[in-house]
Amino acid sequence: QDVVNKIAAGEIIVAPVHALKELIENGVDAGSTAIEILVKEGGLKLLQITDNGHGINRDDLPILCERFTTSKLKAFEDLSTIGTYGFRGEALASISHIAHLTVTTKPKESSCAWRANYSGGKLVPAKPGQSADPKPTAGRQGTQITVEDLFYNVPARRRAFRSASEEYAKILDMVGRYAVHCHGVAFTCKKHGDTSMGISTPANATIVDRIRQIHGAAVANELIELKNEDDRLGFMAQGWVSNANYHVKRTMLLLFINHRAVESSAIKKAVEQTYSAFLPKGGHPFVYLSLDIDPRRVDVNVHPTKREVNFLNEDEIIEQICDKIRLSLSTVDS
Ligand code: ADP
Ligand code: MG
Repeated sequence: QDVVNKIAAGEIIVAPVHALKELIENGVDAGSTAIEILVKEGGLKLLQITDNGHGINRDDLPILCERFTTSKLKAFEDLSTIGTYGFRGEALASISHIAHLTVTTKPKESSCAWRANYSGGKLVPAKPGQSADPKPTAGRQGTQITVEDLFYNVPARRRAFRSASEEYAKILDMVGRYAVHCHGVAFTCKKHGDTSMGISTPANATIVDRIRQIHGAAVANELIELKNEDDRLGFMAQGWVSNANYHVKRTMLLLFINHRAVESSAIKKAVEQTYSAFLPKGGHPFVYLSLDIDPRRVDVNVHPTKREVNFLNEDEIIEQICDKIRLSLSTVDS
């Protein structure tokens, strides 16, 4: 059973960035306004994420890392929305099977914070001989998740990583995506021991501010806003996309579906196709796109780590978005 869990976990999380993505989403879901991330050795040695959200109740800590433990299935019909997120209540469980996991958390009402250590889905003592029960400790409101020695028990996976800086680059890319999308939340991300921040964004920025902070003024000054609502196809699109004055060597697509960062090769292809009529040969756009689609129509049935999604009426929805982009590109004075 333990081996099965370990294998399952290793399929959901194949790189540090996948664990981090889940932890960022949890922080955002907890209503945080500030999220701080600390990384050692590309996240393989340490991934620590500290938020100021609503915290976790002491009584929920013993089962926190059991599979399918989630506080996010409020109503029965929510079950049909599981597809949106690929999986539910499995992130912390998975991480606990392939890393040393420490959770320190303080809900507002609690007089102290609680610290708990997990391994293999269960509470474990911080040190041999101690009790596994959560321990009271000092702390501010919110939750700190510490993931140490990721893949320590999956040596083959661990050996597959060539460079810590490559993994760190993926982490910065992912934090950057969420920093643009969750523009109200202050994000910081840095390497342990570095004095300078990899990413540091103040709270309450606009999306364009965030794009400027993370991707630079060159693109931020050349953005067009995109808005689309369609009752018939049941989706809403919002975005900021580069105009015909701007182009880069590789398409930058920041895609969110129902507030989760995802990949869609269909959308990417269509967007590139649309822009090709407006950009010089070899030039590619910057596209931030946030779609709200009825979760029952979204399907994450491809490999979970790829976050590649499919959705109902995909072709029509993509066509509508690209029509909007085309229209904006041809009407904006350039
Ligand atoms: P899911 O997010 O799908 O519910 P997770 O394994 O990611 O599953 O988290 C399990 C549960 O732990 C969440 O439903 C939530 O109740 C709690 N939790 C995890 N991280 C946080 C956090 N940063 N702040 C508050 N609660 C959290
Ligand atoms: Mg989660």
